[in-house]
Amino acid sequence: RDGLAVSGEFIPYGRQIIEDDDVAAVVSVLRGDWLTTGPTVVAFEEEFAAFVEAPHAVAVSSGTAALHLSALAADLGPGDEVIVPALTFVASANAARYVGATVVFADVDPRTWLIDLDSVRELITDRTKAIVGVDYAGAPCDWPALRGIADAHELVLIEDAAHAPGATINSRPVGSIADFTCFSFHPVKHLTTAEGGMVTTTTVERAARLRSLRGHGIANDFRARESAGTWEYDQRELGYNYRLPDTACALGLSQLHKQPRWLARRREIARRYDQAFSGMPHIETQVVPEGRESAWHLYPVRITAPDAAEARARAFSHMREAGIGVNVHYRPVYLNSYYRDLGYPEGLCPEAEAIYSGLLSLPMWPGLTETQQDRVVSTLEAALRG
Ligand SMILES: *Cc1c(COP(=O)(O)O)cnc(C)c1O
Repeated sequence: RDGLAVSGEFIPYGRQIIEDDDVAAVVSVLRGDWLTTGPTVVAFEEEFAAFVEAPHAVAVSSGTAALHLSALAADLGPGDEVIVPALTFVASANAARYVGATVVFADVDPRTWLIDLDSVRELITDRTKAIVGVDYAGAPCDWPALRGIADAHELVLIEDAAHAPGATINSRPVGSIADFTCFSFHPVKHLTTAEGGMVTTTTVERAARLRSLRGHGIANDFRARESAGTWEYDQRELGYNYRLPDTACALGLSQLHKQPRWLARRREIARRYDQAFSGMPHIETQVVPEGRESAWHLYPVRITAPDAAEARARAFSHMREAGIGVNVHYRPVYLNSYYRDLGYPEGLCPEAEAIYSGLLSLPMWPGLTETQQDRVVSTLEAALRG
């Protein structure tokens, strides 16, 4: 990576921020009695639930585990169809595959780059059981409308909010709306536990089911047995070990306290990019509709030059050579070999494919300085001029 930097330091598209108090929080748990399922898990779950105004939060070992457990707790299985937007990370669709369900890819809206409601309505059949909405780049989907569609057809609503902790729609935080909302704490996301995730949910029953599935399908953990004075446990269903340890939760809790500050910084960076690109030829940016506040995990731009794919490829290498860590999020999921082999054809979601051909994610993380940001903008401008 360093070898690519020819002018100044390398600017990554995103990265974690670990401060002294984060380190101290982890060390303090390491020196305590609980390394894995202890009081810090509960504290992290409670504070995270409060942050997104959700009734319940269940900490798990990754964002992918969060999606898998949501699919299980929603009772999805073979024969069921699950609608997933094409423009997302593969994990959003894989969750349905883990439980043997069929993925039906919805196209995205050409302005918001989020799941297209007309596409969703057209794809609903007798077999549809769930809709997975993805808050791409941090911008919330139209959740009230998706709720309406889901209720009319008795579907489960799963939200992949890996990009969106702190995002709101009509002042309601994501995490409090869908039946299951999944978050990721991978280092490149808003807050990190190294690996980790969270599911927030709306009912006690769903939270209990998620907790059971997180721990082998055993309803009570050993502390509950201890306090009841019994050694007995009963595995009632097939669960997993998807626990998030106390050590990781200590890091997550410490990072969570910084979210308001970091979110404000991400929004400021997004505003500066928006200003820089408004009116710049051959560049489109994501439209965030009135009433919605993005959490800005990514700042993707769409290059709209006549041959977008070629212009994007040129811009990508130009910026990498200039030490700017641009990336592409994402190739439509069904264009991956695994999904191609399942029979999904090219051309399935034309908007997602057209957007993808010009996509480029620019550096977006709270540690990005204004000087670095200006360098990103001028380098992209120069790259597009050719
Ligand atoms: C990061 C991410 C995930 C998976 O999260 P992990 O914690 O890496 O398992 C799922 N969906 C989206 C959209 C993501 O960006």
